[in-house]
Amino acid sequence: MIDKKSGSAGGLSVETVLTHGGRAPDEQFGFVNTPVYRGSTVLFKTLDDLDAQQQRFLYGRAGNPTTESVEAVITELEGAHKTRLVPSGLAAVTIALMSCLRAGDDVLITDSAYEPTRAFADGFLQKMGVTARYYDPRIGVGLTSLMQPNTKAVLAESPGSLTFEIQDIPALAKAAHASGARLIVDNSWASPLYLQPLRLGADLVVHAATKMFVGHSDAFAGTISANEESWADVERTRRLLGFFTSGDDAFLVARGLRTLAIRMKEHQERALEIARWLEAQPEVTSVLHPALPSHPDHAIFKRDFTGSGSLFAFTLAPAPRASVAAFVDHLQIFSMGYSWGGYESLCLPVKLGKNRTAKPWTAEGNLFRVHIGLEGVDDLKADLAAAIERYARAR
Ligand SMILES: *Cc1c(COP(=O)(O)O)cnc(C)c1O
Repeated sequence: MIDKKSGSAGGLSVETVLTHGGRAPDEQFGFVNTPVYRGSTVLFKTLDDLDAQQQRFLYGRAGNPTTESVEAVITELEGAHKTRLVPSGLAAVTIALMSCLRAGDDVLITDSAYEPTRAFADGFLQKMGVTARYYDPRIGVGLTSLMQPNTKAVLAESPGSLTFEIQDIPALAKAAHASGARLIVDNSWASPLYLQPLRLGADLVVHAATKMFVGHSDAFAGTISANEESWADVERTRRLLGFFTSGDDAFLVARGLRTLAIRMKEHQERALEIARWLEAQPEVTSVLHPALPSHPDHAIFKRDFTGSGSLFAFTLAPAPRASVAAFVDHLQIFSMGYSWGGYESLCLPVKLGKNRTAKPWTAEGNLFRVHIGLEGVDDLKADLAAAIERYARAR
């Protein structure tokens, strides 16, 4: 039940955890929300207190009630041992990786990984003496054949946030564990509402809280959740590196989480409606949305996920750059920009290029990624229909 002193909402439905979890009104003079705590110094009353180090808070960099209000909710939803809020989704990925790896180790990363994840592995981990290799996102049990004695981490992102391959997490977990490696899953797309990787065998789960958790395109944050065995390494790595999230940003994440369930439901329905509609439009050669029966990984999606996110992609028949420009330059409702997860719809032309090495992207035509926001669905369709027409005309 809900504990108004600790904010624990254990054992209740997802919607109730989101609305009541992490809130402790009895500790905040009855106010509904945990306020923004700003503070570096935490005071000790006596030398005994200082020596004992038993206070709930010792120094602001290790967290405060506002950051904890977020961590409690994500821990509950992911079925994790613990969670830490960090300054960005990318920081969540980098801390998670560093918590598993040391010089001489090897890491296997899905070829579909978020681009900056790849840049970190190639540009930083390699420099620190860790080899980074990439694997076909659809490799499943085949991962076993790539494992080396020094492979200490496997990173999955399901689905990939540009190409939407669904990964077989139980199979990857089994292969990783058989060689003593940990499985990290970037779960930003589904959120813990629709996928809980730890329950499928993963060891660490990261989120770009910037996206769906915040939900309004106005703050950066990330979360790392882990099982009990992996937790100490995560917390030690975060502490040694000095990562901390401000109370102001934590507050925006906490606020976003309160409405996550209804937002996800709306994003899901709209995205699916538009994905199905796109399948029937001229010029559209494929729609990459795992909840569509036409998606190659639909069976795994149905087995492991309980819902789908706001983000998917589609390809249009081959055409020169002028057609792509004609498509995106005159959009009225969709806007062009990085990120996703806010209330507003976004559309991004995608070039995979050097970012695929294990399984080069060979699909013909131009790839577009869309985040479906909360606008009227008919307005979104009309905007896309006009863009497709411009695309064809500019060829
Ligand atoms: C955006 C994103 C990240 C990084 O999050 P930031 O908060 O922008 O650093 C990580 N993984 C995925 C899948 C993302 O889409």
